[in-house]
Amino acid sequence: MDPRVGAPGGRRRLGEVLVAGNVLSEAQLDEALRTQREDKGRRRRLGEVITALGFADEVQIARALSDQLGLPFLDLGSMPIADETLAILPRNVALRHGAVPVTLAHDVLTVALADPTNVLALDDIRLATKLASVRTAVATASDVQEAVNRYYGGTAAGGGDTFGALADVEGLEAGEEREEELEQVGDVDDAPVVRLVNAIMGEALHSRASDIHIEPQERDVRVRYRIDGLLREVTVVPKPIQGPLISRIKILSGMDISERRKPQDGRGRIKLDRLEADTRVSSMPTMNGETIVIRLLRKETEKAKTLAEVGLDERDRQVVERALAEPQGLILITGPTGSSKTSSLYAGLASVIRPDINVVTLEDPVEYQMRGVNQVQINERVGLTFASGLRTILRQDPDIVMVGEIRDPETASIAMQASMTGHLVLSTLHTNDAPAAVSRLIDMGVEPFLITSSLTLVVGQRLARVPCSKCSEPVEADPRTLELLGLDPGQIDASGLRKGPGCGFCAQTGYQGRIGLFEVVRVTRKLQELIVARATEVALKEEAVAGGMRSMRADGLAKALAGGTTLEEVLRVTPPDPDLARRARRASRAATADAAPADAAPAQAQVAQPPKTPPKVLVLDDDHAIAEVAAAVLVDGYEVVAAGQVDEGLRMVASEHPDLVLVDLDLPGTDPVQLLARLREAATRELPVLVMSASDDRHTRDRAAAAGATGFIPKPFGEAQLRGEVAAVLQRRPALVDHPA
Ligand SMILES: [Zn+2]
Repeated sequence: MDPRVGAPGGRRRLGEVLVAGNVLSEAQLDEALRTQREDKGRRRRLGEVITALGFADEVQIARALSDQLGLPFLDLGSMPIADETLAILPRNVALRHGAVPVTLAHDVLTVALADPTNVLALDDIRLATKLASVRTAVATASDVQEAVNRYYGGTAAGGGDTFGALADVEGLEAGEEREEELEQVGDVDDAPVVRLVNAIMGEALHSRASDIHIEPQERDVRVRYRIDGLLREVTVVPKPIQGPLISRIKILSGMDISERRKPQDGRGRIKLDRLEADTRVSSMPTMNGETIVIRLLRKETEKAKTLAEVGLDERDRQVVERALAEPQGLILITGPTGSSKTSSLYAGLASVIRPDINVVTLEDPVEYQMRGVNQVQINERVGLTFASGLRTILRQDPDIVMVGEIRDPETASIAMQASMTGHLVLSTLHTNDAPAAVSRLIDMGVEPFLITSSLTLVVGQRLARVPCSKCSEPVEADPRTLELLGLDPGQIDASGLRKGPGCGFCAQTGYQGRIGLFEVVRVTRKLQELIVARATEVALKEEAVAGGMRSMRADGLAKALAGGTTLEEVLRVTPPDPDLARRARRASRAATADAAPADAAPAQAQVAQPPKTPPKVLVLDDDHAIAEVAAAVLVDGYEVVAAGQVDEGLRMVASEHPDLVLVDLDLPGTDPVQLLARLREAATRELPVLVMSASDDRHTRDRAAAAGATGFIPKPFGEAQLRGEVAAVLQRRPALVDHPA
């Protein structure tokens, strides 16, 4: 599920900003939040509650937001707003978030909001206006309300519920209403639609799909299955069927069919022949209607596996088991969404569960019921977040806590404190590889000393598809793939490689099922010293390798050579491993001339460039406007060069030596995996690549991560976002941060 959906922080964040701006005391904020929680019926916005309690007036709130966030404070009453500007923001978005578009100049839209901390609002506005740059300004709540009424029509004021707050309480009370809706099934489901939905669900069950995606496009509706991690289009439904189709699925999942503007979650169950699955359904409003994702949790296959079954080899398994046997500490599993981090967590848990220890999990969603474990389902609508849940759980003093995901600083710090005070904490982190976990935590604001006193083990994980047992056969290594992996044909024993042409059994894919590829990093004393010294990610990685870490790519290579996956899968799913390439080069040098000193190579790119020259960013996108926007945003401190085509881009990587490449994920006629590999091949040193895409869902992010991207930027992007991502990536590069602060 998209972590931003129903992000809980919005209301809370507003309060924190006001406390920081000395408008409220902590005690007043607590009281306001408590009062807000006790609201019956329509829940008021925090700003409303604060003014009602008399803690501050609207102008004070708006001014504080303006000061604290560095945003302009606008008097909407005295501002003329052009019709073209108003037209750019759809009415429903303006009403929903209480947003007033104020100016539009050079494709930069300025929007006034009463609560500019509402991230959801900004995302929606970007999505709806398709504008790369949206700036925010602050206005008082009543100014915004009045302007929305004046410009977009009077109905907005009616319930007052149109403002930022995504009325958190509603989901809770929906239970009874849902029952009623189920009674009305007969009204909505025409037989053909029922049959269509049955066919879509049934086919998905049969074809081992893990998710079904129903995606309204401008002219039709696309239906795709995710099988072994990859999306495949199965059918296209005519546009007129869209409404009934989506309603039917929402009814089956206990969702509110009259609500089409807010994301919703639901669940249900499907059964066909002997096959059966629980479903987790989420809806997301888009420009073309509601997108629905149905996740299938199969009864028979989705059991918790053992550490060996998830694919950890003997050596790695021992390291993991040692860390699990410790009475306290933090164990993190890293990887992109969909890399099955949770399965590994379950596997880890399963190996330590005993009747005499108390194991509690906090999950979103609870995927499997585990015997002997107290499982808690996150429910952000009622304020049960990872952070608040963890706090509550710790009061009950469990021995082992599993936190589904660490995605905010608060959860991170509580998890760390818990793991230093007699609890074993297991969690996941969304990073590209295991060593990056440390920099991600530091980026979240966690102090390095906290990391070293809690973190005991980091496991990086990817899933690679397994060759089909029915049709796979021994194959030769493809020279191009080997080259992209940085290997010479003579260097490996390729006799165990297998690949399938595809058959009926594997739906013509040549693959059946998936296996985990891992890298396991034990946090040694030496690593701890580096973390405290705020060493670069590269330095951490080198030390991890020196300490025995085998990269996911190396693990994948070993598995491919044993027929457990293919070299193409390893190239596709694992991040590049310069050590793999370096070892390869060293070995080939040794074959021709005499062996070079083994450790001469690591000196590599660390020789710093003169830091005076600004970092160079290459933008590779067939859309010129993107390059122009990027150039404008990065005008201070960067040199931006652009290429519109792949060949041109590759030439420029070789000739211009950019420090970073920003590339469109969907350049026509290119496969992102190969493109990223070729870009990096053309570079003279390790090249960070930020991937951009117009679709920002978790699957696109997965594709980017699977292609080996250093980071992901959704298009259209905001200025701050682009600058932030670029700076973050470049700061981790050794050439630029010679002496870390
Ligand atoms: Zn097959």
